[in-house]
Amino acid sequence: MRVLIIEDEIKTAEYLQQGLSECGYTVDYALTGVDGIHLFRNHQYALVLLDVNLPEKDGWSILQEIRLGSDTRVIMLTASGRLSNKVKGLDLGADDYLVKPFEFPELVARIRSVLRRSEKITETEALKIADLEIDSARHCVYRAGNRIDLTTKEFSLLQLLMRNVGVVMTRTQIISLVWDINFDCDTNVVDVSIRRLRAKIDEPFEKKLIHTLRGVGYVLEDRG
Ligand code: CA
Repeated sequence: MRVLIIEDEIKTAEYLQQGLSECGYTVDYALTGVDGIHLFRNHQYALVLLDVNLPEKDGWSILQEIRLGSDTRVIMLTASGRLSNKVKGLDLGADDYLVKPFEFPELVARIRSVLRRSEKITETEALKIADLEIDSARHCVYRAGNRIDLTTKEFSLLQLLMRNVGVVMTRTQIISLVWDINFDCDTNVVDVSIRRLRAKIDEPFEKKLIHTLRGVGYVLEDRG
């Protein structure tokens, strides 16, 4: 498994490279975003560890570039534990988010968890409710025959709801199953993502499929 670290603090980069190499990963690192993107385009990485605060090209814009054409797993590293940063990172398609300073075993656990999830994505599965269909193998969503483009997170969220039709999913469950992060459950990450998902798969259509249980969570069902 090849891992790319993009981190401008050389000591941190070297420390992570050494530690992860000892765990059996093949590790490259770049000290700038430009070099990082260059490496990214020239190798197949299973995972990118991406520092948010980088000179010139910051972690957010690198994340966006990575997401343009790739599903490579990305864990953001940041000095700030601010919720707005977490939401932004997850919204832009990061798979996880780690606040510095972190314990090395914590990082390794997160990496394993993120990589395990990416294996699951390859499973073949077609799910259907009313006129909404998802094809997990092709990563496609259709409503009333129209193809709808979703981000990776929106897709995972919809997949989770469709695997649990009629079952109320709490925010905490959604967070842990879609993002795999031990967030405080009062965050609005889930609400923001549900809103975006609704705008794509529910709002343009007469029949609504995603329903809110105030203070509890969300359920996907065909209420006729
Ligand atoms: Ca930095």
